[in-house]
Amino acid sequence: MLPQPAEFVSLAQQTIKGFLTLLLIFLPIELAFAQRSQPLLRPRLGEDIFYFVLNSIVPKLLITALVGLLLFGMRPLYASGIFHGMASLPLALRVLLAIVVGDIGAYWGHRWSHEWPLLWHFHKIHHQSEAMDWLVTSRAHPLDMVFTRLCGVGLIYLTGLAQGSLGQGSSVMVVYMVLGGFWGYFVHANLNWRFGFLENYIATPAYHHWHHSNGSARSINKNYAAIFPWIDRLFGSLYLPRRSWPQSYGLKVRVNQTTVHS
Ligand SMILES: [Zn+2]
Ligand SMILES: [Zn+2]
Repeated sequence: MLPQPAEFVSLAQQTIKGFLTLLLIFLPIELAFAQRSQPLLRPRLGEDIFYFVLNSIVPKLLITALVGLLLFGMRPLYASGIFHGMASLPLALRVLLAIVVGDIGAYWGHRWSHEWPLLWHFHKIHHQSEAMDWLVTSRAHPLDMVFTRLCGVGLIYLTGLAQGSLGQGSSVMVVYMVLGGFWGYFVHANLNWRFGFLENYIATPAYHHWHHSNGSARSINKNYAAIFPWIDRLFGSLYLPRRSWPQSYGLKVRVNQTTVHS
């Protein structure tokens, strides 16, 4: 069912609030700790604001509908002992496990988006940016965003770590979505912060900036996880030089996309 006009108004208000909140958080720290100097009015800024608005509305509606279908299909599973067992785990443990399981799902969604030509057709929009800052996070085709998020969210529901419908009483899913969403903006931000040995465990701007690098074959098709780089280490796709940063981003001189993982 299509949303009512009042729901669109509410989504529009949330979008404006979200944009201003993120701007107030990231603009001052990007100005103070910039990894690269770039003009405030950088190229593609208008496009990225357009994507921010689009992706604050369309993916939410699509994911809600698709998760509804998934949960409908999963109804027989809820009577099983495994799902009862999952529901009885302490909330904090379920949240922790959901963040890990969701990131594994999102890792594979993102990796397939690079390896399968049809998915890359949509995902390459995210890689067109030659700048890196918090707003680049939203630069994506809505279907690309829906696919990767569904891989994470779907796996959390399939494992029974979250039960019930999206946004209705599933505090596990709320924490996962809020944390994952915020971390996405953080790792794209134009920040020169490095976390030492912790970078092997928690995603940082340097880790994800290397994912956007177009400089060398070694850094292409690496660093797919959203929160946990150790997932890349596990599946052989981690590339994280301890001190250096990429020289350039984007697709103009990107190494051929068929460069694949060893
Ligand atoms: Zn990517
Ligand atoms: Zn990115």
